[in-house]
Amino acid sequence: MRRTQGNSLVGMLVAVAILILATVFFVTGGKFMGGQSTARADGKGETIIGQSMYRGKDAKCISNIGQVRSSISINSDPVENTYPQSIEETRLGQDFYKCPVGGEPYEYDPTTGKVRCVHKGHEKY
Ligand SMILES: [Zn+2]
Repeated sequence: MRRTQGNSLVGMLVAVAILILATVFFVTGGKFMGGQSTARADGKGETIIGQSMYRGKDAKCISNIGQVRSSISINSDPVENTYPQSIEETRLGQDFYKCPVGGEPYEYDPTTGKVRCVHKGHEKY
């Protein structure tokens, strides 16, 4: 009697089924099983993989705005209280003047020197 061969086939099929279920669960973000996934304000990134990609782009937006702000403070005159007339005067490059998630150009106010992202969910950056 060779029962061990049959058992290993069933065991392998069960393992494959569990792997498929786990993959579907992670790729769909748990919606397949009725779970709630954390939705972003802009509605992007429905899967867990997509959400982590957009979290990376959120971090890039924060970094871009930080670079632009420090460059504005370098190019501003604290005695005369003047700021660069346009965001391009910081000479950082075109990639730093728009949001990496939505592609919207950053809002810059030359009278106050303030720069902000207009993308939904990035208002506090
Ligand atoms: Zn942004």
